[in-house]
Amino acid sequence: MPELPEVESVRRQLAPLLEGRRFERVVVADRRLTRPDDPAAVARSLEGERVAAVDRRGKYLIVRFESGRALLIHLRMTGSLLHARAGASADDPYTRAVVTLDDGSDVAYRDIRRFGTWALLERGEEDAYLAARLGAEPLGRGFTAARLGARLAKRRAPVKSAILDQRTLAGVGNIYADEALWYARVHPLREAGSLDEGEVAALHRGIRRALERGIERQGSTLRDYRLPDGESGTMQHEFKVYGREGEPCERCGTPIEKIRVAGRGTWYCPSCQRPPGEPVRRRARQAASSSSRRPSRSSSRSSE
Ligand SMILES: [Zn+2]
Repeated sequence: MPELPEVESVRRQLAPLLEGRRFERVVVADRRLTRPDDPAAVARSLEGERVAAVDRRGKYLIVRFESGRALLIHLRMTGSLLHARAGASADDPYTRAVVTLDDGSDVAYRDIRRFGTWALLERGEEDAYLAARLGAEPLGRGFTAARLGARLAKRRAPVKSAILDQRTLAGVGNIYADEALWYARVHPLREAGSLDEGEVAALHRGIRRALERGIERQGSTLRDYRLPDGESGTMQHEFKVYGREGEPCERCGTPIEKIRVAGRGTWYCPSCQRPPGEPVRRRARQAASSSSRRPSRSSSRSSE
């Protein structure tokens, strides 16, 4: 599922291909993509629009037009955008929309599970639309440790759930949440409001580090995510914990464990990321004994 690094990687490739170009012909073949708006009407009203810029906010890709309108694309589970030179678009049963640009090239929107959305907003509608859905941009100046702390304060939800909430900060999903918590050495089940100032600062750094790393590797391709040129991201080869159950933690050697938090598969290091309520000292001892896991650990875990 594309998160901030994946959407940002798509944006970086797409921006130079789209900026300054006109949408010559638009076909939207799936009602779900534009609902509640009629897909044919949206397609028609996009034709003739010239692209001023391609931006991103959280997991939304924003195609801004010179007219002041904006097309907000959310890839959700399996959406992707593929660019093809004139006449090179492959026949693909999962193509839900195609934009033909004025240089003859195509941008095809592909989506297997069909959860993705296209919302065409009129000038002036965008700020309110996004403000209702998204918190701070985690790589922006406005996202400080203090601001993160304020968002987590008094929340009793697990910290992982809190950072998955797009209104806490925008763009973090299941993968980068686990990675950020590992960097920060914070257990995913810790009560969000229980983190002290140092832990909040570590989490703030961890979130940025995980996302920046993901962008450097052009995102992670587990199944469907592709860049507009058809290539895969490579971040999946560098995960610290995500999907690595039983493999050694790169920091301490302890096997990575998997639990469920808020219904999502969650990976963490049981030594580096101290469970709720466990004294600090024990973490240090365990880190020193690296891969030897004590039975008391697994029994306490199963009660979580
Ligand atoms: Zn570890």
